[in-house]
Amino acid sequence: MSLDLNEIRVKQVNGVSALKEGELHAFGVFTVNDLMEYYPFRYEDYRLRSLAEVKDGDRITVQAKIMGMPVLQRYGRKSRLTCKMVAEDWMFTATWFNRHFLKDQLTAGREIVLTGKWDQRRSQLTVSESEFPDRGTLRSGSLQPVYSVGGKITQNWMRKTIGQALQQYGEMIPEILPPELLKKYSLMPRRQAIWRIHQPQDSEEGQQARRRMVYEELFLFQLKLQAYRAMNHERMDGVKHEVDNATIREFVRSLPFELTDAQKKVELEILQDMRSPFCMNRLLQGDVGSGKTVVAAIALYAAVKSGHQGAFMVPTEILAEQHMRSLSRLFEPFGITVGLLTGSVTGRKRKDLIASMQMGLTDIVVGTHALIQEDVFFRSLSLVVTDEQHRFGVNQRSILRRKGFNPDVLTMTATPIPRTLAITAFGDMDVSTLSERPKGRKPISTYWVKHHMMDRVLGFIQREVSAGRQAYLICPLIEESEKLDVQNAIDLHVSMQQAFPNLNVGLLHGRMTAAEKDEVMRSFYDNEVQLLVSTTVVEVGVDVPNATLMIVMDADRFGLSQLHQLRGRVGRGEHASYCVLIAEPKSEVGQERMKVMTETDDGFEVARRDLELRGPGDFFGTKQSGVPEFRIADMVSDFAVLEAARDDAAQLVGDASFWTSPQYEPLRGYLQREQVFQGELID
Ligand code: ADP
Ligand code: MG
Repeated sequence: MSLDLNEIRVKQVNGVSALKEGELHAFGVFTVNDLMEYYPFRYEDYRLRSLAEVKDGDRITVQAKIMGMPVLQRYGRKSRLTCKMVAEDWMFTATWFNRHFLKDQLTAGREIVLTGKWDQRRSQLTVSESEFPDRGTLRSGSLQPVYSVGGKITQNWMRKTIGQALQQYGEMIPEILPPELLKKYSLMPRRQAIWRIHQPQDSEEGQQARRRMVYEELFLFQLKLQAYRAMNHERMDGVKHEVDNATIREFVRSLPFELTDAQKKVELEILQDMRSPFCMNRLLQGDVGSGKTVVAAIALYAAVKSGHQGAFMVPTEILAEQHMRSLSRLFEPFGITVGLLTGSVTGRKRKDLIASMQMGLTDIVVGTHALIQEDVFFRSLSLVVTDEQHRFGVNQRSILRRKGFNPDVLTMTATPIPRTLAITAFGDMDVSTLSERPKGRKPISTYWVKHHMMDRVLGFIQREVSAGRQAYLICPLIEESEKLDVQNAIDLHVSMQQAFPNLNVGLLHGRMTAAEKDEVMRSFYDNEVQLLVSTTVVEVGVDVPNATLMIVMDADRFGLSQLHQLRGRVGRGEHASYCVLIAEPKSEVGQERMKVMTETDDGFEVARRDLELRGPGDFFGTKQSGVPEFRIADMVSDFAVLEAARDDAAQLVGDASFWTSPQYEPLRGYLQREQVFQGELID
């Protein structure tokens, strides 16, 4: 058995010092295998061209012979060096800027390889790089990989080091995919693909190498999910919730509204999972305002009525408080107790709560990350709900799972992901979708206005408030600086107080203490505050049905999905609602983005248009969406491959020989490394 490249530290590659090794860690490169899988994102073409076939303006590489004497002109510290050249029968002038030191090397008759921009009309090449073949060439004549580099790691160093790694260890690269799959898609063997992706002879070969590695990456990803899922589906050690329909109906009847058909359907899917001995792992997606919380409430109710406990984990304290309040109200008539565990619950209070959870006196706990601290335990946790799932890593969710005995897991998200993509990207989960909003909701009218119309916007606020409604005013977002965000909010708050002396204007931002935030939110819920000036801390989940106006300052600084989330804070009750985006985007795309918001309030449509505007590759831009990131594959443009890989992986996992036959040993080894057999998924 050859050495495993995953176990050889990158320091073993010649030329990697301890210092450089540290730098490589920042790129996620720890082992020789990591380095080999550090793929270029494009190639630079240094292949030799003939001047007969190039076009004006092309970036080209040619081999030429030096003709006359070089001419150097100096302009202060700048310089311009020109020299006559001949390539085949073509005479042309090569021009260098600020390379005066080359002058002495330009001796007549010497061969030189030049790369630069070709000016057809003047028969001139503006040189960016040059090499002399008699000194041994590095780049010319080939496609050169371009890596993402930074810090002390330069492009040339990376090229050289990966080349060195291939020299030292290239022969040891093992195949991992089974032969039938290689054959099915005519894929390159792994060893060849890794060599060629770094050092392709031509772009076709580079493409083929990439195709192989994309498939491999997506296949392994799917295999991991499917294997995990298969093992968990086989495990019958989930909690079998015993709750009859009559009991559920009693609770549903107590709700202040009738469930939508979509809610009823999803509820059935969830109850069916909960009643089965398998572990539920379900993703519930629904646009903002589609009523996910009440679905979660019914599931929590079912858990408690089966004699167990439930946990509800949310990303912010504000949201935790809100859910705590609304769940307490819903559950009170049924004698179900709800506790709150956030970072600001400390000391005696925290101790008492945890003790009560351990004794089973508290039925449901709503909380933030504080829920996954080490010393938090339940007597019998059987259901974990997480809201706005994209805020949690898989690992955090799995820690919470371990606080019970294989509890069922329900994950809720408003990030609109096309259903097929969701199923494929979250291959380890079943997916339910809330496809409609509650009846009687009016669409949210969205307007895009310029800054100079602020007076009219203020008039709008006055009008809504006079009608008994409430409004949000979201401050501009200052990238990377929460401090400036806060300052903005404070300033805006002052000017709004001056503009509306007769109103109560509230202020909410991230630097306030939990108690302060809570106080402000409470007064907003109770309509003691009519206008709430806030940073994006209200972005997710906040539910105040009487609020009907959402105003976003400098809206062009926000992402579309973020704007959609913000807009989702209104339109949650029976009153007509409005969203006003104040923005003056300069770019065409920026203007188009504002238009998209005014044209649709359907989250899936917003996501689709966003994709069109941004182009693939950037769809999930931020890590927020919870969609996995890949080294080489692109979730959107390689989607067809992802689907094929999913089917292949499912088939393989379903085949008994996969778990025993020696030919699948490398794949099982991979699953082992990823700790799938320990029943955990690593991010
Ligand atoms: P989200 O899906 O964005 O989390 P929520 O669960 O906060 O949405 O629900 C939005 C609002 O709609 C809440 O005020 C909730 O009480 C209300 N709601 C939920 N379901 C219904 C329904 N079937 N009919 C009327 N209102 C509903
Ligand atoms: Mg919600």
